[in-house]
Amino acid sequence: MDIIVLKFGGTSVADNDKLKLVAKKITTLYDQGTNVVVVVSAQGKKTDSLITEAYEISQNPISRELDVLLSTGEQVSISKLSILLNDCGYKAVSLTGWQAGIYTNNVNQNAIIEHINTKRIKDELSKGKIVIVAGFQGINENVDITTLGRGGSDTTAVALAAALEAKDCYIYSDVEGIFTSDPRKISNPKKLKNISYDEMLNLSNEGAKVLHNRCVEVAKKYDIPILAKSTFSDDAGTSINNKIESQKVKSLVKNDELVLMHIPKQNMSFLKLYSLFEKNKIMPIEFIDSVEEFQMLFKSCDCPKLDYMIKQQLIKDNIKVNKISRVSIIGYGIANDNIILNKIIDSISNIDDNKIQKIDINDGKIRITFKEVVSNEILEQLHLNLIG
Ligand code: ADP
Ligand code: ASP
Ligand code: MG
Repeated sequence: MDIIVLKFGGTSVADNDKLKLVAKKITTLYDQGTNVVVVVSAQGKKTDSLITEAYEISQNPISRELDVLLSTGEQVSISKLSILLNDCGYKAVSLTGWQAGIYTNNVNQNAIIEHINTKRIKDELSKGKIVIVAGFQGINENVDITTLGRGGSDTTAVALAAALEAKDCYIYSDVEGIFTSDPRKISNPKKLKNISYDEMLNLSNEGAKVLHNRCVEVAKKYDIPILAKSTFSDDAGTSINNKIESQKVKSLVKNDELVLMHIPKQNMSFLKLYSLFEKNKIMPIEFIDSVEEFQMLFKSCDCPKLDYMIKQQLIKDNIKVNKISRVSIIGYGIANDNIILNKIIDSISNIDDNKIQKIDINDGKIRITFKEVVSNEILEQLHLNLIG
């Protein structure tokens, strides 16, 4: 019998009424005669509140302990969903990451799944059970709990789909699929029917939260088509697969969760800086070596660690840290299209030059990095000129 993997994110399982909607989606598919494996995230903003609680106790909590704490969010969701399905008359079993055989490397908070032993899941499926797996977590070689990075439940789902050779992998969230930009940031986004793995990977890497970047990498590697759908409607959703369409702008991402750190070069060498950040288990997503300073770009979720390093005076000497925005325009072949380039320049022509840090033109994406956080109007204008 075919296996399908379904993943429901935090908003979809936020309360008991939403859990009932989720249970209905699951049982409808189960009743059609398919084996169903479900991956769930922590309820609502539970992971955020667990992180806050840890930092209320310590400015520098140990990564291993943070993972033990964060993994509890998903454990609550799996048990509640399983209790609900049992109450509706269905056989269901909840499994934590380690019970589901998900083995990762040793990197706490950003672990990579190395292999999955599917025996337990297959045994449970063969007993006719719906299997509910905790997303975002696994176990390492020291039998310690690890987590996969924020948004990592998507990756759990696709990795399970690959390991189980599932027929389909549906990722349910609070939006009806992948749009031409974040529906929460602009007024007229259009839903895409299809987007290629590479385009989606660019979108995720640039900060579109709708799919975790490693979930797209795994899907591409094992050629698993993903269907991104909404828990709250029956819309067909967006298919993420290996089909590349003609050259056009697919989607725009505005990422406001970035911090740029400026470090003057006096008394600081690249190697000294690198080893300092390495020791504190924090690495920039970009490093720029300019004439007078080093610039390091971090995700804002790294702010507590940066604050700690600054407070402890591990990095000193006129450090400047500021929040910034970056708008990325994604689409196959767009970097070689002059009409698109001209439209981008036209859209940003009335912005003060001093606000723009740099513009990069890469394979499949064009990025405008600002020196500060900018309003969504800029995104709206670019979207209007490039997509309509
Ligand atoms: P979940 O909690 O279900 O994992 P996420 O919050 O991680 O859901 O992802 C869904 C969110 O992604 C949406 O609410 C939307 O604000 C955001 N998003 C960003 N870019 C896009 C996009 N291009 N298309 C759709 N959603 C997007
Ligand atoms: N609960 C985790 C987070 O909030 C994982 C996920 O939602 O995918 O990041
Ligand atoms: Mg998510």
